[in-house]
Amino acid sequence: MARGKKRTPQVEELRPYVEGVAKNLVVKLYGPQGPAWGTKRTQIEDVLIEIRDLLTEKMLDESLAKQAAASERPQAFRTCPGCQAPLPCGEANPRLLQTRAGEAEWAEPEGYCDRCRRAFFPQSRSLGIDQSETSSTLLAKITYAGTAGRSFAEASALLKQLADLPTPEKQVERLTRRIGAEGVAEREAAVAAFAALPLAEKFAAPCGVTPPELAVVMADGGRLQIRDPPQAPPSPADAPAAKAADETTLAEDEWKLQRRFFGSFTAILDFIHALSYVFAAAMAGRCFAAGWAVYEQWIGWVWQGRVNEVIAALERRQAELGEASEDEPETSPRRLVARTLTYLGNHQDKMRYDDYRRQGLPITSSHVESAVKQINQRVKGTEKFWSEEGSEAVLQLRADYLNDGEPLEAFWQRRQEAATGQRSYRRVG
Ligand SMILES: [Zn+2]
Repeated sequence: MARGKKRTPQVEELRPYVEGVAKNLVVKLYGPQGPAWGTKRTQIEDVLIEIRDLLTEKMLDESLAKQAAASERPQAFRTCPGCQAPLPCGEANPRLLQTRAGEAEWAEPEGYCDRCRRAFFPQSRSLGIDQSETSSTLLAKITYAGTAGRSFAEASALLKQLADLPTPEKQVERLTRRIGAEGVAEREAAVAAFAALPLAEKFAAPCGVTPPELAVVMADGGRLQIRDPPQAPPSPADAPAAKAADETTLAEDEWKLQRRFFGSFTAILDFIHALSYVFAAAMAGRCFAAGWAVYEQWIGWVWQGRVNEVIAALERRQAELGEASEDEPETSPRRLVARTLTYLGNHQDKMRYDDYRRQGLPITSSHVESAVKQINQRVKGTEKFWSEEGSEAVLQLRADYLNDGEPLEAFWQRRQEAATGQRSYRRVG
């Protein structure tokens, strides 16, 4: 923080006064000679921070209490948000709120609508807060830590160490999941609204948006461990086979996504995936030098969009080696050649690399693979087990924080605007 940093005009106007208060406080604290020689800098700092906290807490209490007691209140804060009937809100109840500026405690006005059978807190509505004990700025910090840390325990430690906000692990978990679940609900509502649009409108650009010349959608998947239903950990012996099977399924799911949601897009198979299959088949049953020469020729053809020539060469190679038998290991040359033949055959239409390169389209999905790794860091690990719901909430937040568009800024803004001041539940009876 630079010395003499410019603050908001409202605060700048008060600067001389606040500076005077500071001078007086120092004299009150240490006398006219200042702190005694030998006083450590940490001792001075600790006391000053405590005074600052005391000051902000007192000012917070005062501001909120004065606002609550003000006799004039606009119409919107005198009527029930449910039925719009006048609601005096004459009662005042003790309210506690944890904020970034400390803890606030004051008497908050409250009313009760008999028709809607719901309590109404006009000041909460005005402040844009919900009925919980955590302010939204604080909630944003806790949610960030709960998503950026490797675990909720680490998040709790980070909050204490870096933000002076001792927050129990369980609370970090509860709040992070709650906010994540709100994000998931918003996303699902947006998807449902889009799905309900007439076909023609689905292809129209939203109001105020200029569609880019080129849109690229990349897909990659990761797997996390779901607690329910309980599963025995895979034994080391069958793990590799299970992994291979899962990855094939995962890749198939990605193409299903493409067909379902991006059917009008040009589908491109990651060149690196094609390369690894072609490499394995070229090397199969050959010494390195001989295999490498074959590989160079084949991968050159793939690069030039001549996949049919690689397929023809592979068919000749398969005839030379013979068909694989049922009980042959996955790594036998016959198997490797057969596997590559099937793979190239299935994806030939997505391997026109010459064409894609001419059009300037991307031919690898390394960007999204690196993005998925950043998501995985939060949710994957041998010690991490998730519930379906909990994982979805954290995945949503993790994706939002990684998003360059910073969608959470608008999310917190919307959340504040949407505060009704009403209890979310109805009183029974
Ligand atoms: Zn009402």
